Amino acid sequence: MHERRTALDQLSRDLHGTPETRFEEHYAVEQLAARLAVAGFEVDKDVAGLPTAFTATHRGPSDGPTIAVLLEYDALPGIGHGCGHNLIAAGGLTAAVAAAAARPGHRGTLQVIGTPGEEGGGGKILMLERGVFQGVDAAVMFHPADRSLRARHALAASHLRIGFHGVAAHAAKAPWEGRSAAAGAQLFLTAVDSLRQFMPPTARVHGIVTRGGGAPNVVPDYTEVDIFVREATSTALDVLLPRVLAAADGAALATGTTVDHAETAPRYTERNNNMVMADRLAAYTVGLGLELEPPSEQHPAGSSDIGNVSLALPVIHPYLQICPRDTPGHSVRMREAARSQRAHDAVETMSTALAALVLDLLEDPRLLHEVRAEFQASTSVTAHGQEPR
Ligand SMILES: [Zn+2]
Ligand SMILES: [Zn+2]
Repeated sequence: MHERRTALDQLSRDLHGTPETRFEEHYAVEQLAARLAVAGFEVDKDVAGLPTAFTATHRGPSDGPTIAVLLEYDALPGIGHGCGHNLIAAGGLTAAVAAAAARPGHRGTLQVIGTPGEEGGGGKILMLERGVFQGVDAAVMFHPADRSLRARHALAASHLRIGFHGVAAHAAKAPWEGRSAAAGAQLFLTAVDSLRQFMPPTARVHGIVTRGGGAPNVVPDYTEVDIFVREATSTALDVLLPRVLAAADGAALATGTTVDHAETAPRYTERNNNMVMADRLAAYTVGLGLELEPPSEQHPAGSSDIGNVSLALPVIHPYLQICPRDTPGHSVRMREAARSQRAHDAVETMSTALAALVLDLLEDPRLLHEVRAEFQASTSVTAHGQEPR
């Protein structure tokens, strides 16, 4: 047991000290794959056309379900592991290796799926679209946070890049010959703020100017705004998105510029949490002295690429407290927490509970039946336009 903890800490701190951003996680994949191979998993790298995606498979001697443990390992540009994905990778790997070691003759298939590019890359969505999750009956993971929760809702999100094209001119000698792309971007952001009062309270629209022009004495011929549009569900997002794009069209019309827009990542859907699995996990963590709070409307929601997977198969994405409450995500404080003793104590507990859950899902057909029944009921509700929980 002590050895497993030492290995967990070493791997996690090694990844923390070697941050790699989306789709560049070559060192992390090398480390994870090597350890999984030693533990008897059959490793496939370069999955789904993504060089840093992988699967590692541990087949038992008899037929049964396929249960996956999902790993994330990308860091944030500039900050490093401010989202604590080093803990997801090391904790998830520890859980899978422990489960396989505890019951090498388990039913079915235990799979570790390495999912790169969570931070703005939508790696899981690409892997889902390319068939990696086909045949997976259920998938589990956890995410570090400032509190421990069984589940939390996540918003559907569109990642837009809006470009305004103007006409360059000397800003003093002949400004009337120019058309300012900066004016287009400015008016667009103002229009979004004017719309905001008339958006549902569940909407979140926020962005930055990523290109604002070259020099103050030149009328800018190109500017760019990166903006995220989020709503409680994909259905609601489909209603909001055209209103935001209409604001961009209007800003272009008013300023004599033209506008184009593109999505810079696959669209994230809302998250459908499987509470049968989440509650079973919570029962195990409580036994180990860790309470996972039940979901609440009060918990603030972000977005994640596991949303799309959660509409295709049962998943859980519980949260594990590694730092004081209200520590902001994606911050230097969160990054420092992600290599702390406290974090690794918590991850050790979580990985033990996850291993127990994974073995239950492999070995107990009644549990998996309940998991599937809840999944089917929840997705048929979503299909009729109501919000999943
Ligand atoms: Zn994250
Ligand atoms: Zn993050």
